[in-house]
Amino acid sequence: MNSQNPEIVDVVIAGLGPTGATLAHLLGKRGLSVLVLEREPVFYGNARAVYTDDECMRVMQAAGVAPELAADMQIDTPAQWTFPDGRVIGRYWQLKRSFGWPVINFLYQPWLETKLSDLLARYPAVRVLRGRELVDFSQDGGLVTITHQATQNCRFGDGDGSRVDLAVDPAPVTLKARYLVGADGGRSTVREKLGIGMDGKNFPEPWLVVDLEMKEGEDALRHIPYFNFVCDPACPVVSCPQPGRFHRFEFMLMPGQTKEYMEDPATVRSLISRYVDPDKFEVKRKLVYTFNALVAREWRKGRVLLAGDAAHMTPQFMGQGMSSGVRDAYNLAWKLEAVLRGKAAEQLLDTYGSERYHHAKAMIDISVQMKDFVSMANPLAAALRNFIVRTLNVTPVLGKWLREGGFKPTPTYRAGSYLGLPRNGRRGVEGTLLPQPQVRTFKGKRVLLDEVLGEGFALIGLEHDPQAALSAESKQLLASLDSRFVTLYHFGGRPQGMHVQRHTPANLVEVEEPDEELVRWFKRGGHGQDLVAIVRPDKFVFALVAADQLNAALAELKQQLGWQPGLVSGQLDFTRLRKSA
Ligand SMILES: Cc1cc2nc3c(=O)[nH]c(=O)nc-3n(C[C@H](O)[C@H](O)[C@H](O)COP(=O)(O)OP(=O)(O)OC[C@H]3O[C@@H](n4cnc5c(N)ncnc54)[C@H](O)[C@@H]3O)c2cc1C
Repeated sequence: MNSQNPEIVDVVIAGLGPTGATLAHLLGKRGLSVLVLEREPVFYGNARAVYTDDECMRVMQAAGVAPELAADMQIDTPAQWTFPDGRVIGRYWQLKRSFGWPVINFLYQPWLETKLSDLLARYPAVRVLRGRELVDFSQDGGLVTITHQATQNCRFGDGDGSRVDLAVDPAPVTLKARYLVGADGGRSTVREKLGIGMDGKNFPEPWLVVDLEMKEGEDALRHIPYFNFVCDPACPVVSCPQPGRFHRFEFMLMPGQTKEYMEDPATVRSLISRYVDPDKFEVKRKLVYTFNALVAREWRKGRVLLAGDAAHMTPQFMGQGMSSGVRDAYNLAWKLEAVLRGKAAEQLLDTYGSERYHHAKAMIDISVQMKDFVSMANPLAAALRNFIVRTLNVTPVLGKWLREGGFKPTPTYRAGSYLGLPRNGRRGVEGTLLPQPQVRTFKGKRVLLDEVLGEGFALIGLEHDPQAALSAESKQLLASLDSRFVTLYHFGGRPQGMHVQRHTPANLVEVEEPDEELVRWFKRGGHGQDLVAIVRPDKFVFALVAADQLNAALAELKQQLGWQPGLVSGQLDFTRLRKSA
């Protein structure tokens, strides 16, 4: 497992849901030893998440699995608010690819989870133990001792969440790890054992979720090609296209309707027949859900961290629950590696919760607002809502804001809570996610920017070599952080002519940008000469500074990381690490 101590794992992850699986990929790619404990003996097979966005696809790109996952997705699908007869009230469609990927991607969660899980076989140092549940742990400062045992009961194979007893030997096993991540879902054992409470609300308004699979050879969904919030005050409905032959409906329970009544096959048949011919579909699942809007008060206690639904529960109305967990995984993976490899002191891990908490909370808040917005049962309020949306939709500025999803929280960390220089005014880019355009390489290939930036820190100089101004101290820091150096030219702006140096400066990658979105981003966000962006491994911006400020900005990076030459060993010397943390 660990290179120095065979019995010690770098990171144990409890839970192989989308969050745990993404984290396992990201850590595996960084060469850490990982053990994933998953309670279910086999994938339990039910769809929950149906949508993900461009930010998450960028994370999947970093995890090396985006093409495989994208192949199974339905992309660029407009999301609409409609009348019950299908007439459109308003629309959200965003075709720009600011982060390199389509913004509206519909997926079938069992395909996504199965593929993520299968692709983990790439990493010999990542082991998955299925049918094993984490039951206890303790920490002594340097290590976490984890106890797991064969699952006593589980829900695999069911359609309705009822549990199945397993006849297995329950003898517990213990092991030691440097860190434990609880990605074990909303009812997290890890969170419970840490005694961490959650802030927020449980909502009493239940919805019936019906997952359908169209029968082989049928073609019966042509009339509902897009995602619809059906704004019917008599029964608000969600109609959701999915890849393959799948489709989902969600129906809000109206006063007097019970769970038993709604899950009754006759009720389900009658509800779906308003939209589709029920004889052409198999009902894969029908289940009444309530939802939670909760965030854990703490995300880390010592060497144990929470991620995904274990840390936050998001109503599904913006399709952001899984996506928030995927963002957690990306934020956490590079920080765990940096601390484990001595590139940063342990205090770096405190920025995980401080950065992610506010963004996850913002997603929860907008999801609750969207729920309230689409589930209005008062006909007068609903008519007013429809009037406002239709009016907004034809107004130039607000219509664009609505269509392009201006209501969705941007990937921006709250001032004072993130690893980076303070944001310089409203146009400041520090603590925000770097755009990801396609860039053109010297040999005329188009690639996504992150492929050039790599997995460590990166310095991007606008039209100049960002290494030119580096002090010896800055170079030492950047070398230890496996940094890359990139020059970004506007399209057609590469140096040329007989006076130009004939070889590329050492360690430099030069690219040009056909669409110039990033070039404009530099000019909007920075001041002074020879701008340089310092980009974190998760592609959030640490700083955008003029070249003459670069060494000062890197000194700040060093300080915020708690970096010292003695920390960096290439070997995992944890005694020293702990002393300096
Ligand atoms: C109806 C519905 C629709 C949704 N739609 C969307 C959407 O469109 N987009 C979106 O982004 N999100 C959506 N979500 C939310 C999304 O499904 C969840 O946020 C996501 O699955 C959370 O992933 P996770 O890995 O954090 O947790 P989970 O998916 O819950 O995975 C946790 C894993 O941990 C395992 N586990 C639990 N306890 C233990 C233990 N003690 N030891 C070992 N293993 C353990 C579990 O078996 C499970 O496999 C929706 C949710 C619902 C209910």
